[in-house]
Amino acid sequence: MRVLRTRAELRAALAAAGRPVGLVATMGWLHDGHRALVRRARDENATTVVTIFVNPRQFDDQADFERYPRNQERDLALCADEGVSFVFAPPVGEVYPPGFDTHVTVGAIARPLEGAARPGHFEGVATVVAVLFGLVGAERAYFGQKDAQQAMVIRRMAADLALPTEVVTCPTVREPDGLAMSSRNARLSPPERAAAPVLWRALNAARAAHAAGERSADALRAAMRDVLSAERLANVEYVSCADGATLAELRRVDGPALLSLAVRFSDVRLIDNEPLS
Ligand code: AMP
Repeated sequence: MRVLRTRAELRAALAAAGRPVGLVATMGWLHDGHRALVRRARDENATTVVTIFVNPRQFDDQADFERYPRNQERDLALCADEGVSFVFAPPVGEVYPPGFDTHVTVGAIARPLEGAARPGHFEGVATVVAVLFGLVGAERAYFGQKDAQQAMVIRRMAADLALPTEVVTCPTVREPDGLAMSSRNARLSPPERAAAPVLWRALNAARAAHAAGERSADALRAAMRDVLSAERLANVEYVSCADGATLAELRRVDGPALLSLAVRFSDVRLIDNEPLS
């Protein structure tokens, strides 16, 4: 495994690399969710590239950016262990060199949910992913269902800009108690960590209601809120039952839909989702 710090090093390494190339873009503090993406990339491609970059442009809150957990030594050990070919872990100035002045704005799919709660977030995500797609030129890039809207935004961008990288979405990896793995979980206090599986329980309550025939989106949102309201450490930012293709809020669930929520525990913001087919 080679660790590359500059655009030039990355390009030189990739010029001689076996094809196809699979890309996993991360912000580090790697866990088993990232590991699942890396394994899939490695299984399906001759060369696997992992990027580790805490992207300042996708944080709407500067304090959140500064608090984001970082441990590159441990991340590199996980990548080496998983047979990654190249890790690209650049400083900010290599991703955004002086004079950088292009922003990628995706339309309607980026507006609700995370887009509404975190102004500028998806512009930051789409811009950095466009740079990484350009630099790596991968045949495939792997993203987690955990960030369902993010994967949809990136898929839209790649299709619209005719980027040659196929966007692959992989299932959410969970802790044994159902909590979706996230780098942010490390920042929960012990009582908050014990309370956090309430997100998964809320999603399950709505999924069970849907499976039992409930088609009112209001009723499904209420089912999630009911579960969340029993947990006093949980501050609900939104609960959503949206169209699975457009993410517009639904009145009735008559086709593919996405249940999703964002919940704060003190200053730690967690998201999760569950598709309904
Ligand atoms: P992040 O480092 O949080 O930006 O995540 C990097 C990639 O890993 C994104 O595509 C995420 O959706 C994905 N990811 C994060 N957590 C999980 C998880 N629990 N299960 C599956 N994929 C995940």
